Amino acid sequence: MAERLTQAQRFETLEAMGIQTWRARGSEGVAESTTATEAVTESAAVIPSERELPGNWPELRHAVKRCTQCRLHETRTQSVFGVGDESARLMVVGEGPGAEEDRTGEPFVGRAGKMLDAMVKAINIAREQVFIANVVKCRPPQNRDPRADEVEACSGYLRAQVSHVRPDLLLAVGRVAAQHLLGSTEPLGNMRGRDELEAVGIPVIVTYHPAYLLRTPSQKGRAWSDLKRVRHALGEQA
Ligand code: URA
Ligand code: SF4
Repeated sequence: MAERLTQAQRFETLEAMGIQTWRARGSEGVAESTTATEAVTESAAVIPSERELPGNWPELRHAVKRCTQCRLHETRTQSVFGVGDESARLMVVGEGPGAEEDRTGEPFVGRAGKMLDAMVKAINIAREQVFIANVVKCRPPQNRDPRADEVEACSGYLRAQVSHVRPDLLLAVGRVAAQHLLGSTEPLGNMRGRDELEAVGIPVIVTYHPAYLLRTPSQKGRAWSDLKRVRHALGEQA
């Protein structure tokens, strides 16, 4: 009981981070943009078609580093492969790099990243214990949503990462990641709180994008219930 309160309180401290608005990413969390939405579905045979991809991790990393398979390579500073424990039980999937990520080469290091760290910490998981990746590995200019052809071009990498890490659970943060992993066009609200979702045989829990929570702190209570489900799915005391 005391433990529970502590965790809830820890999560409440995230409120402090949500006061300023975050404008870097577009419309994740709410299904208002249709740019990626519809076309993603066409291509979304649950992380689509296998391309000739390197079987081992260093080669995969190298392939992403030098990839020019879509136009996003033209405007990136560097691609952002992903970071964390290669044998993590939990894999977090976001949308794509923002400015800070493009600059540093690491996913979720900007304000949304700090929020993501706080979210997993609230369920006693350290950033280092998870593997963090994005649907697209290169930053979309002006942080627009990735387009369907870009998502499609990049999807093999994510699939290879999921196959390598083989997490017990995928946590999709935001609409773009959720729709892509699930091959769905449903709004995020319909995908949250469901038990039966999976991608390539791995259970998926859907929650809000941390950037959305920064803009809309009133949804943190709902995010907290998603996180409790994550903790429960990982076999920890809920
Ligand atoms: N938002 C994302 O979806 N991914 C990142 O890596 C950073 C911000
Ligand atoms: Fe390649 Fe993906 Fe970057 Fe496009 S976004 S250039 S497919 S790594």
